[in-house]
Amino acid sequence: MSFAASVLTLYPEMFPGALGLSLAGRALEAGTWSLEAIQIRDFAADRHRTVDDTPAGGGAGMVMRADVLAKAIDHASPPGDKRPRLLMSPRGKPLTQARVRELAAGSGAVILCGRFEGVDQRVIEARGLEEVSIGDFILSGGEPAALVLLDAVVRLLPGVMGNAVSGEEESFENGLLEHPHYTRPQEFEGRPIPEVLISGNHKKIAEWRHAEAEKLTRERRPDLLGGTPQPLVK
Ligand code: SAH
Repeated sequence: MSFAASVLTLYPEMFPGALGLSLAGRALEAGTWSLEAIQIRDFAADRHRTVDDTPAGGGAGMVMRADVLAKAIDHASPPGDKRPRLLMSPRGKPLTQARVRELAAGSGAVILCGRFEGVDQRVIEARGLEEVSIGDFILSGGEPAALVLLDAVVRLLPGVMGNAVSGEEESFENGLLEHPHYTRPQEFEGRPIPEVLISGNHKKIAEWRHAEAEKLTRERRPDLLGGTPQPLVK
């Protein structure tokens, strides 16, 4: 079973973009996942192919029309399509590694990319769109957010990452930020690699990494320690 992504956008040329390269690009070529970028404008009814209009109640900017978006969504996701319908939105639930894992375990996603001031509230309700945010900042459009979400999902698909273990020890996977990394040379500008890492003592190394991960998490993201982190060392 492969992961099927359908992205609704005013800028289909932005896809696959960065996802056409490296791990995601190879997986796309191999058929591990598929991507269709659908031009929302193709579902506009008038000859100017209008997709937006002025906000009801007044104010700056434009709003994407519910009727046009509904047609595009119904085309991408006909009745019976079990894939979640996501709307990239700064008002959405912040994306987490847990949600990314859930998505990667499913059959795909239909992703609507907003532009302008956003989309008419009625299509969000009528089509059951799940609003997803990639952080507390405002992008000019949902496309970069969709690329971020898909990048995070695709790397978890079976066979995409060479070394499966590295996925499980990553930041957030065990409720902690990851420990620091080192590689050759042994000494860089007077800074040696911490001795324990060249000791060959795997138990000590695991303990050191866990302690570093905890320290880093306490310093930078104490919010992550509110839950019950899984121990890194088995
Ligand atoms: N007026 C809106 C912002 C619109 S930005 C507000 O204040 O909430 C235009 C589009 O970019 C949005 O519709 C959304 O699709 C996308 N976007 C912007 N910031 C985003 C974020 N942090 N996460 C996900 N999508 C975002």
